[in-house]
Amino acid sequence: MPSRQLATEIQSLGLRLADPAAGAPGRRGGAGPSDHKAVNVNGRTLMIPIHTAPAKASPYFAEAPGADGTSALLRDGVEVARIGFPASPRFYRLQTLDGVPYWMIAQLHSADVLATTVLQTCVRYGNRKTTCQFCAIGQSLAAGRTINRKTPEQLAEVARAAVLLDGVTHMVMTTGTPNFKDRGAQILCESAFAVKAAVELPIQGQCEPPDDPVWFRRMKAAGIDALGMHLEAVTPEVRARIMPGKASVSIDHYLAAFAEAVAVFGRG
Ligand code: SF4
Repeated sequence: MPSRQLATEIQSLGLRLADPAAGAPGRRGGAGPSDHKAVNVNGRTLMIPIHTAPAKASPYFAEAPGADGTSALLRDGVEVARIGFPASPRFYRLQTLDGVPYWMIAQLHSADVLATTVLQTCVRYGNRKTTCQFCAIGQSLAAGRTINRKTPEQLAEVARAAVLLDGVTHMVMTTGTPNFKDRGAQILCESAFAVKAAVELPIQGQCEPPDDPVWFRRMKAAGIDALGMHLEAVTPEVRARIMPGKASVSIDHYLAAFAEAVAVFGRG
């Protein structure tokens, strides 16, 4: 099977595992992509669903890893590839001086991406009239798998360890929306500044369009190299139904914010 077709199918259909403990632990629920596991397929690390309902009925099945660390990937019982699992990161074994495990502060995504939700609460979350239907930002907090506010000092400590111990090459910082003014830009500035002071690590920030475009320059100056502002959907009716709170920020406002951000961060 061509590798692109395999990558597309396995990401769509998910994977059953003979040994769920192989490699880095998968993540259930929470902000951003979840319910998946990092899997090396044909030289690339893909995030493959393992906890979703379709994944539990997937035709793809990974046998337990053999002595060489790779597993047979079967489709309907026929081997189609050998796959591997990135090892559990070493920084997961550490904790801060005040006893917070590093894995509660930031997580490894794919093979070399450090990801964190700087603030695990959002002004839109938890209210049926405003919350985004696809969002699970409160789930991992409610389950005790993370902490609400990751301080700049904690993020710097974990980022440094992840670079030194596990070869992390870039970092993604997202946040719940804390207010209707800077909409998370300030908290990203504080966090990025602390991380960049501790270790050289490219950072992508993610927030809603802030009220004042001056925040784009501030984020850039604080050490954010690239910025994501997630429109999520473009059809007004879909936006109003799926993300009623966020839909109050108009598409025109997003497009204007994209233009202003590109002027600061560049394209792409
Ligand atoms: S704006 Fe929507 S997707 Fe983003 S954290 Fe809030 S509820 Fe979740």
